[in-house]
Amino acid sequence: MNNLHVAIIGAGATGVAAFIALVRQGACKRITLLDASGPAIGQVYASQHPELLCNTSVELMSLLPPHYHDLLHYLHEHTNNEITLADFVSRKIIGDYIQDRYTRYLSLAYQQGISVSFIRDAGKQVMRQPGGDYLIETRQSGTIAADAVIVCTGYTHPAIPEALASYQGDPLFFASPYPEKLMLEKIRPDSHVLIVGTRLSAIDAALVLCRQGCRVSLVSPSGDLPAVRSAVMLRPIQASRLAWLTDSAVISEHVRPDIRKWVIRLLAHASAISLREQFVAEAESIQRLREESELARQDKTEWQYRIVGMINVINQHSHTLPEAVKHSLSAFLRATGRYISAMPLKNAEKLLGYVDSGLLSVEKLRADSLQKSDSGWTLSNPQGEITHFDALVCATGYAPPTHSMTHNGLILADARDTSAAPPRLNNHLQLHLAHSVSPESVWLAGISTHLSVPVVNALFVAVEQVNRIAQQIKRL
Ligand SMILES: Cc1cc2nc3c(=O)[nH]c(=O)nc-3n(C[C@H](O)[C@H](O)[C@H](O)COP(=O)(O)OP(=O)(O)OC[C@H]3O[C@@H](n4cnc5c(N)ncnc54)[C@H](O)[C@@H]3O)c2cc1C
Repeated sequence: MNNLHVAIIGAGATGVAAFIALVRQGACKRITLLDASGPAIGQVYASQHPELLCNTSVELMSLLPPHYHDLLHYLHEHTNNEITLADFVSRKIIGDYIQDRYTRYLSLAYQQGISVSFIRDAGKQVMRQPGGDYLIETRQSGTIAADAVIVCTGYTHPAIPEALASYQGDPLFFASPYPEKLMLEKIRPDSHVLIVGTRLSAIDAALVLCRQGCRVSLVSPSGDLPAVRSAVMLRPIQASRLAWLTDSAVISEHVRPDIRKWVIRLLAHASAISLREQFVAEAESIQRLREESELARQDKTEWQYRIVGMINVINQHSHTLPEAVKHSLSAFLRATGRYISAMPLKNAEKLLGYVDSGLLSVEKLRADSLQKSDSGWTLSNPQGEITHFDALVCATGYAPPTHSMTHNGLILADARDTSAAPPRLNNHLQLHLAHSVSPESVWLAGISTHLSVPVVNALFVAVEQVNRIAQQIKRL
């Protein structure tokens, strides 16, 4: 084992996965974790409500690759013996699992002679020192010196549309559905609630609010809900199918491969069920939700077994693609976002139950016409009908971190110098400063890599990244 001291900034799921990877690989002698919220809590898996499910199956939530059964073993030991790799469990359970594995690897680190410390504070910046090591400036605890740094800071703050920004501070306006406890404490059970957004976090909000008896309207300009899946699991994709994507000789700036066609061919080749039977043509949101739920119930959504393989290949090879291809890839990923971030069938069935009992509606509407009234908000639809709402929940997602790079280091999102450039990463996720010949011993992982990696919004992506990073640190 080398004598390195590695600092991990951010100790949510990604930071804990990085910690475990360093310990498992015996990659360093000393580890310091830094997070103002405490170790192994994070934001994403801190939800306590049993209704808030992961949208990825158990198989994809293990912290110990390639042991995809690790979470399953934990679940059989601590919860329910009948859970399978295909199931979707609550984010609370994943939070408990992360805590458990953090504690286990703390004692393993101790047994292996790796010293571990945790500092309850936020990092502000990481600066390269003349001797080649790094100094992390924190908000309150001074500085920490380390030989290598892994930045695992996750999302920053809710992305609030301009039309809603002025309502911040109102006791019945919620900038995000999380922590859900806050929302549930303040919104009375008989309230009429407007949720702005129709994607996964909006669905989380609708499920917990309808369950406590609120009437809920979900609105967004498209009115599009996520697609429905009964599982999402890893089935490797045959390498020959990817030739055009991985062979840079095939792709040039002037040849823009039609990514949509590639995916259709790939799905058609890999499926026993015809594509016509796997997908729904219906455009109206609720009817589409019904039809997609029925397909998932009948196990016809075979695309759900290809999506992880596709994400892995796209993430692995995107850095080799010319800019033009990267652009068409981004457009394709945006267009297929409702499949990548599809919802579990169980959630779809609950939503349909609330729709049928009159508690839930989904509308294609912009929030621009929203008006504040004495007792809440009013929203008018294109027909001029006005609806009153008692509470307003913004569920339009989170802003990815905007770290920036200076001539000798990295400024972390909250402390961003707006005149500085975004971080440049090499294909090993290592920071590469503008005038430097070699990359730094500073790595970004998880959501922080969003400018370099096409799909980052999944734990399995972050876990794979930190394991690669630990291998590199071991070789330093
Ligand atoms: C609502 C929601 C649901 C999701 N559901 C799923 C799912 O079901 N399946 C899936 O695979 N993915 C899901 N994701 C994607 C998710 O981003 C990944 O799973 C990710 O790995 C989450 O862990 P994280 O540690 O990166 O982020 P977080 O949980 O946000 O943790 C980041 C940590 O970094 C700390 N931090 C931030 N800034 C600093 C700083 N400057 N200094 C020190 N510490 C700092 C924070 O305090 C926090 O503890 C979801 C995302 C969201 C937002």
